[in-house]
Amino acid sequence: MEKIHNFINGEFYPANSNNYLDVFEPATGQVYAKVTDSNSDDILYAVKSAQSAFDRWSNLSIEKRSNYLINISNEIENRLDEFAEYESRDTGKPISLARSIDIPRAISNFRFFANFGLSFQSEYYLNSDQSKNRVVRYPLGVVGCISPWNLPLYLFTWKIAPALIVGNTVLAKPSELTPYSAYKLGEICKKIELPPGVLNIIHGRGETVGDSIVTHPSIKAISFTGGTKTGKLIANQSSSSFKKISLEMGGKNPAIVFDNYNYDKMLETMVKSSFSNQGQICLCSSRLLIEKSMYDQFKIDFIEKVKNLRIGDPNNFDTEYGAISSLEHFDKIMNYISLAKKSSGTVLIGGNSVKIDGRCDGGWFIEPTIIEGLSNLNKINKDEIFGPVVTLQKFTTEEEAINLANETDYGLSATIWSKDKIKANRVADQIDAGIIWINSWLIRDLRTPFGGMKQSGLGREGGEDVLLFFTETKNICMLD
Ligand code: NAD
Repeated sequence: MEKIHNFINGEFYPANSNNYLDVFEPATGQVYAKVTDSNSDDILYAVKSAQSAFDRWSNLSIEKRSNYLINISNEIENRLDEFAEYESRDTGKPISLARSIDIPRAISNFRFFANFGLSFQSEYYLNSDQSKNRVVRYPLGVVGCISPWNLPLYLFTWKIAPALIVGNTVLAKPSELTPYSAYKLGEICKKIELPPGVLNIIHGRGETVGDSIVTHPSIKAISFTGGTKTGKLIANQSSSSFKKISLEMGGKNPAIVFDNYNYDKMLETMVKSSFSNQGQICLCSSRLLIEKSMYDQFKIDFIEKVKNLRIGDPNNFDTEYGAISSLEHFDKIMNYISLAKKSSGTVLIGGNSVKIDGRCDGGWFIEPTIIEGLSNLNKINKDEIFGPVVTLQKFTTEEEAINLANETDYGLSATIWSKDKIKANRVADQIDAGIIWINSWLIRDLRTPFGGMKQSGLGREGGEDVLLFFTETKNICMLD
């Protein structure tokens, strides 16, 4: 069985412990590889290698660093089909999704920061007293990037690319559930001759490897994407060292529908925003708030569209909806569905696991599920389920819609659907979320800030925000 090893100082090594964790294919429920189970000893070696690479890397011209990033993106692009297969096998997502979203976005992450970083300049201010201020941004040193399982290479590279372009060296940890594409990224770094130690990819469990990265005194910043509970732990552990932290965490995103503007497009997008990647995208809508006068029609049409989703083997190119990414997560989602059934909720469609004949008969599939009749304060509407479960609620006034949308601990994203653009913008201004789409979903311009409010996030990724995060600013004032 294939073994997945750490990539440290430009070479592949098994962890010191010589222990391995099973890596499952969610669509079959079978183990298909073993990933090395690292611990703090491996982190010590990786930090040393990142430290010794730092001077050379940070002193390279930004154009040279940019070239390395472009070479990485070109190599992933050359192997797009292969990487899409890895990602689909590791996560259970349809191969078409991995091919059209995950891997292209990983390619864009490197390409975007390779170019955008070139315009990240020092600033100069000349004053009437002849004093000159020079504002300079320096790389931090060795930084840590920790990412989750839902969009493995997409989110892994979204952190690594900006950290590298501004001159940091990196220790990066993918989720232990989906390590394969990160492992193969190491292979690409070796092929394009990225200097050893610049990017170190360490595998293993969060409580050991993740914790060792977070608590290592020489690691200057942590960029984390994952659950809110883990984010809180990281915030607590970093507070006494004043380490910089950027936390992208959970969500419970509302979609507000005011009227039937562009109705078919809205329905089609709503199916995607609810059930893409089996609802396992942090930006998925899970609370659908529908204006009372159109609630009944929306309900009928939405159910009809969801019924048509093609569930099946993620390997088939026409599959639109695949497996849940781990057995533990499958059990968690099924528990929430049975809780909804026990309380006042009515399951309108779905609510069951799915058996797929053939290769996938041991896989972890759950039907797309729509529930109505639950109050906004019911556990199903409060907790992040992070799966294919959405609820429908109706509202009568704009104020009620805003209150329902904001009555949550989370604040990652929201969508608003209306023909009245002034109203939609007025509502957007009052929703507590970091990312809001009007009459659309998941359109991303990588120059824009990305992140959540409340328990969904601390700090912003993307564009200039992330380059500021990965640098330290110094102001030098000189009088002529
Ligand atoms: P998780 O918090 O369990 O794990 C995320 C990463 O953190 C993994 O690599 C894990 O090994 C590591 N980790 C776990 N414990 C750790 C510790 N004590 N110290 C350091 N690292 C540790 O999250 P998950 O289950 O992998 O991902 C699902 C969550 O991610 C959901 O809540 C989802 O909303 C969130 N998410 C958020 C965004 C966003 O941009 N806001 C994007 C994707 C996913």
